[in-house]
Amino acid sequence: MKIGIVGLPNVGKSTLFNAITKAGAECANYPFCTIEPNVGVVAVPDERLAGLAALYNPKRVTPATVEFVDIAGLVKGASRGEGLGNKFLAHIREVDAILHVVRCFAEENIVHVEGSIDPRRDVEIINLELILADLETLGKRIEKTRNMAKSGDKKFLDELDLYLKIQKGLEEGLPVRALSFSQEEQELVRELFLLTEKPVIYAANISEKELATAGGENPWVAALKTLAAREGAEVLPICAALEEEIAQLDEEDKKVFLADLGLKESGLDRLIKAGYDLLGLISFLTAGPQEVRAWTIKKGTRAPQAAGKIHSDFERGFIRAEIVAYDDLMACGSYTVAKEKGLVRLEGKDYVMQDGDVALFRFNV
Ligand code: GDP
Repeated sequence: MKIGIVGLPNVGKSTLFNAITKAGAECANYPFCTIEPNVGVVAVPDERLAGLAALYNPKRVTPATVEFVDIAGLVKGASRGEGLGNKFLAHIREVDAILHVVRCFAEENIVHVEGSIDPRRDVEIINLELILADLETLGKRIEKTRNMAKSGDKKFLDELDLYLKIQKGLEEGLPVRALSFSQEEQELVRELFLLTEKPVIYAANISEKELATAGGENPWVAALKTLAAREGAEVLPICAALEEEIAQLDEEDKKVFLADLGLKESGLDRLIKAGYDLLGLISFLTAGPQEVRAWTIKKGTRAPQAAGKIHSDFERGFIRAEIVAYDDLMACGSYTVAKEKGLVRLEGKDYVMQDGDVALFRFNV
């Protein structure tokens, strides 16, 4: 999963991104830790890894990871290619979801680029750039399709209708994700790779004091929620400054620190969960004496494709999978007992993987 961080200057993006890189450095035992300066990798929190590690005593425990890309240069005028604008739009094209950071904290001495705090205006400034970029993409497509539709071919006429409908929505300021489509249309829409089709989470950057009530009293958070509801998006209250502190603590200290604040999880952990939900992702696990590991897949992924996440040979030569649900395995206390009790199932190529499946793949080389 790859998430792009956008937002106006001075809203707390770098602070949050620093928290991400620090949290990533804490669990640096995976090979792809630092990639580029604007990319941070963090572990997907998963208590099942510790459970399996206790059973297998492996050499390595490798969590699933999420990549965050800091797309700091997306500012007013980006869609017109001012400065490095277009390059940043290209970055957005590559992410699975967008994290839109919005300033909802007061703090007099931190200047707001637009002069006042107003989440609605801020969100609209950024969204407008994305909408303008999409209108450009779409404009070219409409022109092409119009030419092809001259033949009277119904397929092209239908496509043209759809594109015009999207264009109208965008012109009214609606991101593509806020529009509704039939299944068939959805597939065509996906092929356009529009920026405003990407699912979004709005991170309301609030002050530390407000965190315990999740910004419940904060009028800016309320305004942001209204706006997000229009496009079916979620608002996640965080305090970027506090995340930076939390990210430097080890697991134990982190728990104590959060409990003192009346919180169960860090904002970053909540964010990763929200991203999983938004994108329909689940994790399956592999376990052995060498390594216990979590892998991210889309809900609905079948066994051979899940195996392919580990190695392409596993998918190509897939024979079957031995699957046991994590809870069953833990209840039995060992793989052998789980097998004796018939809880380890043999599944074929049509098996749809479930969250928390502990899998062993059999394959031909
Ligand atoms: P960016 O331009 O969006 O990357 O914003 P920065 O992360 O550089 O933050 C801008 C300023 O706001 C910095 O002085 C931060 O210390 C401050 N800031 C960021 N997050 C918070 C927060 O949650 N609370 C407070 N009070 N200040 C913050």
